[in-house]
This record gives sequence, structure tokens and C-alpha cells, in this order.
Amino acid sequence: MAFLNIAKASTFTLNEGTQALEALGRTVYRFGFGEAPFAPPAPVQAALRNAAPRIEYTAVAGLPQLREKIASFHQEVDGYAIDAGQVLVAPGTKPLLHNIMRAFQPAAVYLPQPSWISYGPQARLAGHEVINIPTSFEGRWRITPDALEQAVARSSSPARQKLLVLNYPGNPDGLTYSPSELDALTQVLRRRRFWVISDEIYALLDHRGRHRSLASVYPERTLVTTGMSKWCGAGGWRLGALILPPDAPSALFNALVGLGSETYSCAPAPIQAAALRAYELDEQLYEFLAAQRRILRAVGAVVHAALLASGLRVHAPQGGFYLLLDFSPFSGALAAQGIIDDRQLCDRLLADAGVALLPGMAFGMPPEWYTARLAYVDFDGDAALREADQIEARATAHAAKMLEGIDALGEWLRQLNSSR
Ligand code: PMP
Repeated sequence: MAFLNIAKASTFTLNEGTQALEALGRTVYRFGFGEAPFAPPAPVQAALRNAAPRIEYTAVAGLPQLREKIASFHQEVDGYAIDAGQVLVAPGTKPLLHNIMRAFQPAAVYLPQPSWISYGPQARLAGHEVINIPTSFEGRWRITPDALEQAVARSSSPARQKLLVLNYPGNPDGLTYSPSELDALTQVLRRRRFWVISDEIYALLDHRGRHRSLASVYPERTLVTTGMSKWCGAGGWRLGALILPPDAPSALFNALVGLGSETYSCAPAPIQAAALRAYELDEQLYEFLAAQRRILRAVGAVVHAALLASGLRVHAPQGGFYLLLDFSPFSGALAAQGIIDDRQLCDRLLADAGVALLPGMAFGMPPEWYTARLAYVDFDGDAALREADQIEARATAHAAKMLEGIDALGEWLRQLNSSR
């Protein structure tokens, strides 16, 4: 074929499919698309309105004041030294991740199974070999030093540069790495001279506020990506940032600026102006972050409990707003119904019960493991913020629509079991 063979990312396919079903008047439980439930704070929105006249192109790397601000912000919250010269701003982290992949000569890209949907396609677009690192439910979907070493041994091109993509708190699993797990992984990273993309876009939504950046333990070759899409509720505004290692080769920095200049040019000037306000580390911001964490933790807990009651295997979330559901206790019943993989499972759940989940295969999971991602963001974030100081008592009420969806899921599973 004369054209590139690349499918639309499955999140967007599902979101558009869900909207089409809703347009037909069907009730759909929207667990598919992971959009942050909280809007940007009012002063940040006001800053964006005021910045509408900013019609200029900025420098490719971003406004110098914003690079300064993001550097001092992350230095403060992550506790390691960052200079503004290490920061690149872009229209979202997705193009940054893409350009980072492009900036490396053909490499071996190591991806945990599961990991976020776009890393694999982006790595393949850049001509890299993709090597999966298996995990298990019992191992809380974490990669271990042993699993990483075994994956290295499987590479068909051992001389190539190694690039690991790590994402925690994680999409699709909602789990994080403890400091001792990070330390143990770092030993292999150092020994094997890995470059790491540490996608820390959910870091500020670690439910206990205890995120530890990989750059603080493996500073020499960690590229941290972050941005306003999740903690600031501004996915559609498109603002992402990259923090390079302090002594990153200038060739890497130049390649990223070159790629940015030939693709997106710069993040929109008004959005960068609003980001200057968003990254203002004042008491209001600490309160906003603490409230979001408390709400996500409380809502996550009730959603998790309801899912366990329906017979699924799933770990309690630690950060962000996702859960990776393991339907394997139902694998016999699913197979008996001719449902042989996670995509068919999700298609049937949407058609029969109006429950929209994203199949594990989108995250690199073996399809026959019957896993699927659930995003627990279908609640009124502003209403929850107004009750943040008593959210534990109110979480069930706020999560009502989602709990109804989990009931529908549970009922579907009961019927599945009884039809065996
Ligand atoms: N990484 C992860 C793990 C994500 O979940 C997302 C958004 N779904 C992104 C990156 C992309 O975010 P952005 O809006 O900054 O492009």
C-alpha cells in the first residue's frame, strides 16, 4: 500500500463510538476515556482569557519564563535540582514523547506489559525494535530487575542503545513504584546504560502525595515528561513539558528542538501564559492538589470495592484514575460463550451492558488474558471539589453513575456464569 498503516489510537475510537451510542439514546457507562475530572482553577482560566491577544509564535523550547517556572516548580515538589535549560515545553507530552523516540537512532525500546497505548506505535514509527517486559497480576503489574534483565537477553540487537519507557503512577494500572523498587531497577538501568523516558504525567495525582521521580535516583539518563493534562485538568489545552538530564548531550537537546521546529513549532502562546499561572506554587495550588488526591483516593476506593464484589481481580489504586481489571476468574465462562480475547469481551460489554472499557491489548497485554482498563472519571469533579473535606463520607454519592455501571457489569458477569 502507498500509505502508512497506522490506526487511530483506540482511546479515541472508543470515545467516538461511545458518543455515537449515546446519540442513539443508549445509556453508556463511560469508563473508556481517561479525561481528568477537575477543571483548571479559576485564576488559570482567567489567565488564559487574558492571554487571548498573545498571537505570537514563541521560541520552540517555550517561553523562557515558563521554562524557569516549570524548573523551579519541579525542583520544589520533586526535591532535586533542575535548571531552566533542561526544560522543553511543547503542545502536550504526546508530541514530545514522539519526538524523543525520533531523536534516537534505531534503538531497542523496552515497554512494560501493560503500558500506555501510544509508546509502541510511536517507537515503531521511529524504526525501533520493541521489546515487551512481562508482568503479572500477582506482581502488581510491576517490572522487576530480573524481568528487565531477561528482556535485555531477548533483544535481537544487543549492541543497540536501550531505551526504557516507565510510567508511574500508571496508565492503565493506577499503580506506582516504591522507592525500594525504583532503587532496585536503577541498578540494572545503570549497569546496562539505559536511557529512560519516565512518563510522570500522573505524579502530582499520587493519592498519598508521595511520588518519587526517577530523575532523583537515576539522574544521568532519565528524561521526565509531565504537563498540565492531568493534574490541571487541561488535556485539550495541550501543554506538556520535558525535563532533560542536567548533562544531557547537546545533540539530544538540539535534535528535540529541531524536530519540534519542523512539526509543532511551539506550544500556543496563550496556553503558555496560562501555564505561567498554573505552575505558581502557592497555597491555593497545594490545596487544589491535595483535594484532587483525596477525592481520587476516596472515589477509587468505592469503585475498587464494587469491582471486587463483582468477582473481578483488581488492585487498589495508588495514583491517577485508572484500574486494570483482570477478568481471568471468568475465562472459562467467557470462552464457553465464544469470547476469546479482551477486544471481544469489551465489544460485548459495550453492546450488552453499555459498559465502555478499553481492552488490555491496547496496552500491549496478551489478549487472551482478558484484561481491560477502567477510568473512574465519570463524576462531577467540581461538585466533588466543593465537598473535598468530607469526601470519604460522600464518595458513594459522587460515584453513583459509575457504581450503576459496575452493577451492570456485575449483572452481565452473573448471567455469563449462569449460562455455562
Ligand atoms: N502519557 C500518559 C501515560 C497518558 O495517560 C497521557 C494522556 N492520556 C499522555 C501521556 C499524553 O498526554 P498529553 O495530553 O500531555 O499529550
